[in-house]
Amino acid sequence: MRIATGRASDQGQLRANNEDAFLIDDDHSLYAVADGMGGHRGGEVASRTAIEALRAAFASNRDLEPAIELANTAVRTRAAGDPNLEGMGTTVTALTVSGPHELLIGHVGDSRAYLLHDGELSRLTEDHSLVEELMRDGRLTPEQAEAHPQRAIVTRALGVDDDVDVALYRVPVETGDRVMLSSDGLSDMLRDREIESIARNEPDPQRAAEALVHAANAAGGHDNITVVIVEVLAVDNEPGDAAIAGEPAPDGEAEPEPDAAPEQPQRARRTRLRTLSGAILVLLPVLLIVGIAVGVIGWYARKSYFVGQQNNEVVIYQGVPGGVLGWDPTIEQRTGIKVADLPQLSQEHVQTNSTRGSLATAQEYVARLQNETTTTSTSTTTTTRPRTSTTRPRTTTTRKGP
Ligand code: MG
Repeated sequence: MRIATGRASDQGQLRANNEDAFLIDDDHSLYAVADGMGGHRGGEVASRTAIEALRAAFASNRDLEPAIELANTAVRTRAAGDPNLEGMGTTVTALTVSGPHELLIGHVGDSRAYLLHDGELSRLTEDHSLVEELMRDGRLTPEQAEAHPQRAIVTRALGVDDDVDVALYRVPVETGDRVMLSSDGLSDMLRDREIESIARNEPDPQRAAEALVHAANAAGGHDNITVVIVEVLAVDNEPGDAAIAGEPAPDGEAEPEPDAAPEQPQRARRTRLRTLSGAILVLLPVLLIVGIAVGVIGWYARKSYFVGQQNNEVVIYQGVPGGVLGWDPTIEQRTGIKVADLPQLSQEHVQTNSTRGSLATAQEYVARLQNETTTTSTSTTTTTRPRTSTTRPRTTTTRKGP
């Protein structure tokens, strides 16, 4: 198979660093995107460690699934004993050539693979995220999912556990097809239709990757954005294949009886996947209930803001006064206003944290306080940084940045 590639990665408009990583390894026909998560430099280290381990495993002739399992081990080993890296994890979506006209995708987390075929985009991977699992269960509509505050919770990632459940997808391809790997910084900013239109209208894969990242940035760039495009320039011909060149291999048609002999590795693997998904079906409701409870409490604790004070300065806190179940309020914004400069009534208001609500409500109240101050010299300096996952509590699921 002859392949052309394009790649682009950007930290976006809000993040201080780029925790995404990607791989283009033409020698081994291996392509991947990883989106790291974790405090300090954890996210960056996790995604790069996974990508490097994946590359090394492939270079020593491992298949895709065991290579991803080795990448999982590598992330865990790297984090062990380093408090700065504890709890780090990463998604990975990797692609390789598995037949004359077939690609194989291995996938963990909420990065994505899309196929562009005849100008039409389809998504190849399922997100391993709480929101998408709720949606698949029919408990959220796609519209609700899009605005859901817990979008960032992934239910599978490398680095979380000794075992990792890799989703595998076999993708028959034809000449001219494009497979695009991307981090959620692309799919959270652009609708599938916009991705389709950009990918279809830009014939050069490199320029297409750049245009997609540019569009996600223009739409707000809330997260790191990474796109890898693998374009099939020509599929290989198999012996006896000439008459149907371009047709996908009839993978599912010539299958033996359902009770396949053990020498049918593909079927064995599928049966194993089916057993695994059976176990997941049993466990999922329990995990979902726990996840929803944790999510709702976290959402309640983090959705609200209040105006309080710290060291005689008026500050806006995010959270609930006193905290809820380990979610302690954090300072969202300092104001430079001295509590002592305020009229008595306002001082009491601030000291009892009595102004609560949205960030806008809190900021309006602060603006009023500003006018009440007896001095005019103080100016308000606000720094609203994107929240990182450093202060987030660990739960049974793994949480990425906002
Ligand atoms: Mg991301």
